[in-house]
Amino acid sequence: MTMQYRRLGRAGLKVSVLSLGSWVTFGAQLDTGLAGACMDVAYEAGVNFFDNAEAYAGGDSERIMGKVLAERGWPRQRYVVSTKLFWGLDDSVNMRNTLNRKYLSQAIDGSLDRLGLDFVDLVFCHRADPETPIEETVWAMSDMVSAGKALYWGTSEWSADEIRAAYEIAERHHLHKPVMEQPQYSLFARERVEQEYARLYEDIGLGLTTWSPLASGLLSGKYVDGIPEGSRATLPGYEWLRDRLTDPDANAKVRALGGLAEELSCSLAQLALAWCVKNPHVSTVITGASRPEQVHENLGALDVLGRLDDVTMSRIEEIMR
Ligand code: NDP
Repeated sequence: MTMQYRRLGRAGLKVSVLSLGSWVTFGAQLDTGLAGACMDVAYEAGVNFFDNAEAYAGGDSERIMGKVLAERGWPRQRYVVSTKLFWGLDDSVNMRNTLNRKYLSQAIDGSLDRLGLDFVDLVFCHRADPETPIEETVWAMSDMVSAGKALYWGTSEWSADEIRAAYEIAERHHLHKPVMEQPQYSLFARERVEQEYARLYEDIGLGLTTWSPLASGLLSGKYVDGIPEGSRATLPGYEWLRDRLTDPDANAKVRALGGLAEELSCSLAQLALAWCVKNPHVSTVITGASRPEQVHENLGALDVLGRLDDVTMSRIEEIMR
């Protein structure tokens, strides 16, 4: 399997088409040793992007990733790290669920401290904040880039209108523009990437770092016969996922996709990941894993890409209809 790299939209930065994120896993399922083992498998296969966020495991996810990066001593030139800001860690009026200037300028310092880095490559506004003018957020994010604390900034789960508004404000004032979005994208979550954002790729050169490509594990096929022990659906705090992961209609489709994967001599997870990579608007598919073996299996999606010809793609459409 040979890693492929794509430009982050119109930006010059290239990211591996498969990357590794730390939501749910780092902290709750993986200590520093196991998180490092997952990152090793990814890095050795050419993954150059590791995704993180301030809110993950209350800051521990950044601490764990920072420790692994320090222990490994990989050249800083070789990898891209992100963080995402919005929910906040400090319980005070200006520091929760916000993109105000005060929060953003202090939150990035906390993330850099936990990661043990001088800068992150990518910083995302983790959600939109209806209570802060977009103009205030754009100035604050642009200043963060100018201060060298982040190289590129973008958004996560913003509407197309909000993204375009941010871009236009930045353009009007000659500020650093948002270059990427981080939306959910999988065989079960397609609308935003395929329809809502459709005009943004050409118009503003938007790049995508997409999340939950296996719909939290549903698209590995592990929930077709119930909830396996130790899976995400069994974790305390993730009860809200359980109904979705065990939904009979969804699992009927998953079962049919599993048959197709078998014909293609790959695992269902590999098929579902390759399907995401196949979309040229996707710069990188952020994968998640609770074990190094999963990282290894998921990287095998690269070998499956070439098997997704027009006939196979239509068969997938037929199953998902
Ligand atoms: P997935 O939908 O791919 O789910 C990953 C989980 O599925 C794993 O932790 C594991 O869970 C299970 N799994 C993975 N591979 C396999 C396999 N081969 N066989 C069986 N089970 C498997 O991605 P995530 O939901 O983890 O999201 C990926 C990343 O995206 C996150 O780490 C984060 O960086 C980012 N993200 C961003 C969000 C945002 O708002 N911007 C929101 C959510 C995620 P288990 O073994 O425990 O069942």
